[in-house]
Amino acid sequence: FAENLAGKVVLITGASSGIGEHLAYEYGKRGARLALSARRENALREVADRAREFGSPDVIIIHSDVSNVEDCSRMVEDTVNHFGRLDHLVNNAGITTSKLFQEETDITNLRPIMETNFWGSVYTTRSALPHLKKSRGKIVVISSVDSWMPAPRRNIYSASKAALLSMYESLRVEVGTEIGITIVTPGYIESEMTKGKFLMGEGRVEVDQELRDVEVSAVPVGSASECAKAIVKSVARGERCLTVPGWFKMLYVM
Ligand code: NDP
Repeated sequence: FAENLAGKVVLITGASSGIGEHLAYEYGKRGARLALSARRENALREVADRAREFGSPDVIIIHSDVSNVEDCSRMVEDTVNHFGRLDHLVNNAGITTSKLFQEETDITNLRPIMETNFWGSVYTTRSALPHLKKSRGKIVVISSVDSWMPAPRRNIYSASKAALLSMYESLRVEVGTEIGITIVTPGYIESEMTKGKFLMGEGRVEVDQELRDVEVSAVPVGSASECAKAIVKSVARGERCLTVPGWFKMLYVM
């Protein structure tokens, strides 16, 4: 049976662009109330305005860096203080790499990938779990096809996404009778990350355009809006597994 998302309280990390931004619109269209978090406040404000236009009755924005444990707990607290409950946590914030591990990578750029993609999700989930158990809610985790089909130059990124798979499959065994866990493994989606403007450390990283062209010609490419649509539809339906033709993606839904 489809879950009615109207009035549900949904916290989305990494909502300032790409998949997270479009998840805000898709949840908004279904009448969910939203807490949108990321580091770029101006971008978040614009997403919040559009999500309201799409139909969300109440949207707040929370400035936070998910690699900081205090930010993660404050993000959950702010959400519950404002809305009085939490129904869905969407762990979406992430950064990537597209550099050769040995020759091109500054070792100091590796740790932030794990801290953002893996630890950020873990910290937020730890703070959110008591509230999700209370509401019998859901966690949605945006992993990646790289978690089980690693590509060259993704090294620590692939590892961070595989760590998410293991972590949430294990958590599912612990808490699966109380809350739902959806692990999403999207394929290649057009976003800031893949357009070559993703943030790493303090600066924007340029993706090797030649490499990007090879990748885009080799695999089907999806849009962030298609991806978000499929995720919210599937999460609301509680489907166990979904493959969307045209781009490589699977969903596990509990
Ligand atoms: P974007 O770069 O457009 O979005 C990434 C989001 O994460 C932004 O909103 C960014 O916001 C946020 N973010 C990054 N670092 C932090 C941080 N330290 N604290 C808080 N927020 C942060 O890329 P996508 O939409 O493509 O990526 C979304 C998710 O989808 C990621 O987890 C990515 O790994 C995953 N994914 C993407 C695929 C693709 O092909 N695009 C394929 C498979 C998975 P801000 O900079 O404002 O903080």
